[in-house]
Amino acid sequence: MSGHSDGTSRAPGATLPAVTEGDEAANECDGGTPTGAQHTAAPDDAPGPAPGTAPAPLRVSPHGYRAAFEAARLPMAVLGRDGLVTAANPAFGELLGKDPHALVTASAADLTDLGGDPHIWTAYRDVLAGRSDRLRCTRRLKHPEGHSLWAEVSVEPLPGGDRVLLSVTDVSDRHDLQARLRHLQMHDPVTRLPNRALFFERLAAALESATYDRGGTGRIGLCYLDLDGFKAVNDTLGHRVGDRLLGAVAQRLTRCGEHPSGRAGRGGQLVARLGGDEFALLVEDSTGTEQLADLAQSVLDALQRPFDLAGQRLSVSASIGVVERAAAGTTATGLMQAADTTLYWAKADGKARWTLFDPERNAHRMTRQALSSTLRPAVDRGEFTLEYQPLVGLGDGRAQGVEALVRWRHPQFGTLPPNRFIGLAEENGAIVELGRWVLERACHQARAWQLARPEEPPLFVSVNVAVRQVWDSDLVADVARILAETGLAPELLQLELTESAVMGSAGRPLQALQALSDMGVRIAIDDFGTGYSNLAYLSRLPVSVLKLDGSFVRGFRSEEHPNPADETIVEALVALAHRLGLTVTAECVENAEQAARLRRIGCDTGQGWLYSRPLPADRVPALLAGTPETPEEENRD
Ligand code: C2E
Ligand code: MG
Ligand code: MG
Repeated sequence: MSGHSDGTSRAPGATLPAVTEGDEAANECDGGTPTGAQHTAAPDDAPGPAPGTAPAPLRVSPHGYRAAFEAARLPMAVLGRDGLVTAANPAFGELLGKDPHALVTASAADLTDLGGDPHIWTAYRDVLAGRSDRLRCTRRLKHPEGHSLWAEVSVEPLPGGDRVLLSVTDVSDRHDLQARLRHLQMHDPVTRLPNRALFFERLAAALESATYDRGGTGRIGLCYLDLDGFKAVNDTLGHRVGDRLLGAVAQRLTRCGEHPSGRAGRGGQLVARLGGDEFALLVEDSTGTEQLADLAQSVLDALQRPFDLAGQRLSVSASIGVVERAAAGTTATGLMQAADTTLYWAKADGKARWTLFDPERNAHRMTRQALSSTLRPAVDRGEFTLEYQPLVGLGDGRAQGVEALVRWRHPQFGTLPPNRFIGLAEENGAIVELGRWVLERACHQARAWQLARPEEPPLFVSVNVAVRQVWDSDLVADVARILAETGLAPELLQLELTESAVMGSAGRPLQALQALSDMGVRIAIDDFGTGYSNLAYLSRLPVSVLKLDGSFVRGFRSEEHPNPADETIVEALVALAHRLGLTVTAECVENAEQAARLRRIGCDTGQGWLYSRPLPADRVPALLAGTPETPEEENRD
């Protein structure tokens, strides 16, 4: 700091500096912050310029300073280091509605409310004690005539060390304008409710105070609400009616917030419009899920009565996602995501209801999401692998082929069975790449076994194909290319499709099946019996194998079902299939008795744990040679 004035003396009767006539102002700088001359004049004891301070300052007589102080329109007071006023100018007196002389010896902190806020009080004490060189803050002051005003209060030491200048700017207009602007910024014009910005501000503040302030419950609750079918109101009755409806809904919600069914927390409840037809009721210091469930129910009840909007009678319902949890460890984003998911469940579960957040349901969703989004890169990273399960001739017990079954060696979740990801891959289309990889790998492997055992009858490989592979990729071209590349004969490839995939197939899928069949590739219907079981229809398609679903064979069990219907059905199915020129494979053959019955019935091939679990490729040759490395029992997972 550099203050400067020469030849000053204290004016009689006041603690104000005398001022040298003729000089206009003193150049002052406080902590690098330029301030007006009147802020810092302390003529009687101001030191000379600090070393290195450039231009020689103007010289002002003590008289001049005093006159400036008196005439200044900026309210100012000079304080002693004890914080008591030693001089106040008329503008200061006017601001406070008091005689400035009467303010001498008054506590400046009392006059300008510097003691009301602990932070400000500390900063003020620091300036008085010389530990800090400036305080600037905004305080709300009360005028004796009753009106209040917003004042920006600055406190900074005067040169010389034993006094401090306090100056006050009336910023009421600015403050009111700011407040009005802020209100506009933070409220929704349609419903007059707090808007998204204010909601998130309050949410962040609530989370912070609930986490650190031990006085409350330390919990937070949120009802996240979306009107059902609001778009239809807008579309059919127009935006004006839509806006009115939103306004009316907002009123009812506000009443629910005012009369909470449970105990209201200290912070109370905030009802906000988050946008469109979305509203939120935030409960600070919530007491548990029951309170939030009650609140959600009261909202549904409140919205049940129809709305009368200028002659239009309208009914709406709402779906509500309800989240209630400890504030510690909760972020605004986390809470909103949970609420959003829960709202989605409420909609999916049938709308017009509230649904409570369920961490388990969420974890399942997250895992699904995580798997779904990483499927495609996982194909590129080579995280998939195939296992092979023999398809055994029931007559001679010899393996004629193997079914390729895909597994995902997931870096995080371990080895995943296909039912965890095939559905997802079908949903997001990754099945096309994955299916192509399976086909390539399986054909390659089948050809490798064939070349390794040239003297033995070759094994065919049976590959599962999802319906989307037929629709979304050129399966015929892929198969032709892969067979050509691997050198595998088309007769050694079988494609398994489900009945529902080929049902009603016309156009492209049917052409594809026909082209594949013409190529010499066999088409099998997987899990037959779980769908339409329409043999008459299937026989007209280029299908050559039926794979009977495991549930038939499971129904064979003798002691519990001395005369099971399944056996009769399978017998009839096999006979019919044979008449139609189809061969039949039974899935899930787990014991010798089932195999014996299937053989008697005339079933052609069997697949199941009786023969082998699905095995990695390198263990298949030993199985074929009839010397499995480990007894079958040990293969079980
Ligand atoms: P699927 O084609 O019907 O395959 C037979 C499933 O039954 C396999 O389950 C197999 O491990 C299991 N299994 C075999 N023998 C027995 C037994 O004796 N008892 C019992 N209880 N189960 C037995 P996995 O490997 O989990 O495959 C499940 C399904 O995933 C397959 O059913 C198939 O629909 C699908 N899938 C597998 N790999 C692929 C693939 O590469 N592409 C496509 N699109 N789907 C595949
Ligand atoms: Mg299959
Ligand atoms: Mg099957």
